[in-house]
Amino acid sequence: MKKQLFHQFEELYKIVGEKNLLIKEEQMLDYSHDEFPDSRISQVPLAVVKPVNTHQVSEILKWANKANIPVTPRGGGTGLCGGCIPVPGGIVLSLEDMNHIIEIDCDNRMAVVEAGVRLMDFYEAVEKENLFFPPHPGDESATIGGVIATNAGGARAVKYGVVRNFVKGIEVVLPDGEIIQLGGKVLKNSTGYSLLHLMIGSEGTLGIVTKAILNLIPPPKAQMTLIAPFYDLENAIQVVPGLAKAGILPMAVEFIEVETIRVAEDFLKKKWPCQEGKAHLMIILDGTSDDEVLRVAEQIGILCGEFGVRDVFVADTPKKQREILEIRSNIYETIKKYVIEILDIVLPPSAIPGHVNTVHRLSRKHNMWLPTFGHAADGNVHTLPLRAHYLEGKWKEIPEFQWKEIYPRVRKALHDDARKRGGLVSGEHGIGLVKKEYLDGAVGSNVVGKMRLIKKVFDPNGVLNPGKIF
Ligand SMILES: Cc1cc2nc3c(=O)[nH]c(=O)nc-3n(C[C@H](O)[C@H](O)[C@H](O)COP(=O)(O)OP(=O)(O)OC[C@H]3O[C@@H](n4cnc5c(N)ncnc54)[C@H](O)[C@@H]3O)c2cc1C
Repeated sequence: MKKQLFHQFEELYKIVGEKNLLIKEEQMLDYSHDEFPDSRISQVPLAVVKPVNTHQVSEILKWANKANIPVTPRGGGTGLCGGCIPVPGGIVLSLEDMNHIIEIDCDNRMAVVEAGVRLMDFYEAVEKENLFFPPHPGDESATIGGVIATNAGGARAVKYGVVRNFVKGIEVVLPDGEIIQLGGKVLKNSTGYSLLHLMIGSEGTLGIVTKAILNLIPPPKAQMTLIAPFYDLENAIQVVPGLAKAGILPMAVEFIEVETIRVAEDFLKKKWPCQEGKAHLMIILDGTSDDEVLRVAEQIGILCGEFGVRDVFVADTPKKQREILEIRSNIYETIKKYVIEILDIVLPPSAIPGHVNTVHRLSRKHNMWLPTFGHAADGNVHTLPLRAHYLEGKWKEIPEFQWKEIYPRVRKALHDDARKRGGLVSGEHGIGLVKKEYLDGAVGSNVVGKMRLIKKVFDPNGVLNPGKIF
């Protein structure tokens, strides 16, 4: 039996060897899904192949292209829209063993890394050299290849920008196995069309990233986290334009409703430092000195006061800051079991209050809890429709027939509302498998047509991550 199966993948076996070729279902279950909550979209691959170098990636793609076998690249599997889930009859190419930090070049402030390096390991290595890689998507098990393929964002994007702003070069293997180098250790680049930026955010549909050159910056010298409690979310978000007008650019401005924090507190058995109000802003400040950060914190305190905040909680030690972040980062984990989907709508920041009003209206109309939090200052709103209510410390599930009937209407209404306000479908997670139906409406079918033409140029046989984006 084993022999027969290996026969089917003889070429793969020759390329990566027995240890790095998985074909037993029980070994492949972990590769059948990502962090999207609904397991109905999972798919066990035909095989999982784990190359250890670029040459092997190239050989695998040459074989797949000839044999017409779909290949789906996979990094940490932390994606939230099914991007790394294979199509039936396809294989998964996992970059997990290509995880070397090749160089941290302090003279040029650039890191050269393999695509399978996990963020947590990368941050540690960069910190040791007293440098800083600002992008921080919430799950540090994500890999460099994955964050490049999704153009990930995270809380710090408001000040420092998204992953795209830090990728200066990549090595990519194209679907026919050709290896190309794009960009380099250069900060400026106007050398022809930017295929580098075309690859960033292409969700593994145009090429497989095998190496990356990432720009690093000096770390901030001082940091402070503030929690400002407001009577409602609308008021909380009104502070954001005020910050912009006052010339204040925090590292992160996150909004969270207290109802959601309570669930996380119960689950983690930890206390959020501030119990007042209904909606909180978590503002992270950084700067060149404690005095500078404190001055800005005082300005923010005055501004929040204009919107009814009496006291702003200040976390000025790394320990207090870590405790707050732990609760904030675990919100998804605590409600995951009942989350139907994580929406990732992005709006002009000033449109957030109006959109959040729509969220509340839909929640009341359909009696569905729609916890909403996100990156207030960059307009990225995560609404997590739930198939249960949390009442007096207990979950009460909505019958399946009921939420399945309600949810498509809620989902459509939220996307329609975002579009009317100048918003788009995804700010940072990508389109993947689950948001394809909204792409046309968001960017126009003529633009999607051009995207399809580009896909054809790179992947005429459609073997690389088919069924994603469109
Ligand atoms: C708790 C939690 C919090 C999160 N917070 C954030 C957040 O704040 N901001 C944010 O942006 N995201 C966030 N995410 C989503 C996720 O972490 C990001 O989308 C991340 O970029 C995915 O990286 P990955 O390595 O896990 O990729 P995977 O999930 O493995 O793959 C994602 C996509 O990239 C492709 N891909 C992977 N590796 C490569 C490669 N080497 N070459 C080409 N294509 C490749 C895959 O085919 C797939 O389409 C969060 C997820 C969780 C679970």
